[in-house]
Amino acid sequence: MALSDAIQNEIKKYSKRVECTVARIATLELSDEDREVYLKTLNNKNAKDPDFLSTEKLSQVMRDEGYEGVSPSSINRHRNQLCTCYRKTVSS
Ligand SMILES: [Zn+2]
Repeated sequence: MALSDAIQNEIKKYSKRVECTVARIATLELSDEDREVYLKTLNNKNAKDPDFLSTEKLSQVMRDEGYEGVSPSSINRHRNQLCTCYRKTVSS
């Protein structure tokens, strides 16, 4: 197999990786505008950043707005890159 094909194949696999619950909600359920703010907040781990929102608060806001599954532990896993978003191969 040519190198370019091998690389393209890996990229394709990576693009099909499974998103974790908290990331999937952004993809499936949020408008473009909401998605941008949500993902920015979700991926912001810097507690000194003025836009930082704690894991618990973000989870609370999402629950208040009617989105299920955004638990503090899921947010933590995502923020620490331990979730399925950061696994580079498909686990099927
Ligand atoms: Zn994730």
